[in-house]
Amino acid sequence: MKIYKKFSLAKILPLLYNVDMNAVNYNAEMNKIIKSFNGEKKKLLLHACCAPCSSACLERLKDFFDVTVFFYNPNIEDEEYFKRKAELIRLINETGWAEIADCDHDTALFYSAVSGLENCKEGGERCAVCFKLRLEETAKTAAAGGYDFFATTLTISPLKNAELINSIGAELADKYGVKWLYSDFKKENGYLRSLQLSKEHSLYRQNYCGCVFSQNPLD
Ligand code: SF4
Repeated sequence: MKIYKKFSLAKILPLLYNVDMNAVNYNAEMNKIIKSFNGEKKKLLLHACCAPCSSACLERLKDFFDVTVFFYNPNIEDEEYFKRKAELIRLINETGWAEIADCDHDTALFYSAVSGLENCKEGGERCAVCFKLRLEETAKTAAAGGYDFFATTLTISPLKNAELINSIGAELADKYGVKWLYSDFKKENGYLRSLQLSKEHSLYRQNYCGCVFSQNPLD
C-alpha cells in the first residue's frame, strides 16, 4: 500500500490537481494503528478546526486516546475564531471527551504564509499552505508535550483532500519525531455523525471554511 510521506510543493501539486482520492484508505490505516495498542490508551494532540467537525472525531477517538484538543487556527479572523473556540469549549464541557490546550492566535502568520496565493481557488495551493501551517504548530507542540500522536479533524470534511492532509502530517511526523495518526474521519459515516451531533448539541455551524478568502470566494 502506498502512503505519501514527503511534503514539498513539487510533490503536492500533482496531489492537488490530479489526486486519486481512493489511493489509500486512511481510515483503515487509523484502525490498524489503534488495533496495535492492544487496549492501551495513547496521548493524542488533536488539531481542531471547529466544534461540529470535532464532535464526531472525538466520539470516535475518546475510547482509544487521552485526547487534548488544539484549536490552532491563525487562518480565522478574531470574531469568528472566538465564536468557534467558545463552541468547541462548550462541546468539550458537555461531553467530557477531551481536554483543551490553549494556544496563540496570530492571523499575521497566516497572511504572511499565503502571501501571493490569495486568489487561489478553495482546495488549491493556498489551502495546502494553510494545512501545513496549522499542522506544523500541532506537530511541534505534540513533540514538546510528549504526546504519542498528533492528528487533525480536517479530514472529516468531504470538501478537503484527505490524501494531501495525510501526506503533510506524515512529513511533519518525520520532521518533529512524533507519530502522525492517519485519518479519514468522513468514512464510516463520520461526516453524517458530525451533523447529528451538531444538532444534538445545537452547535454553531459556519457556512465557510475559515479564512476571509473562503468567506467571499471569487467564483
Ligand atoms: S479555504 Fe480553508 S483551508 Fe483554504 S486557506 Fe482558507 S481557511 Fe485555509
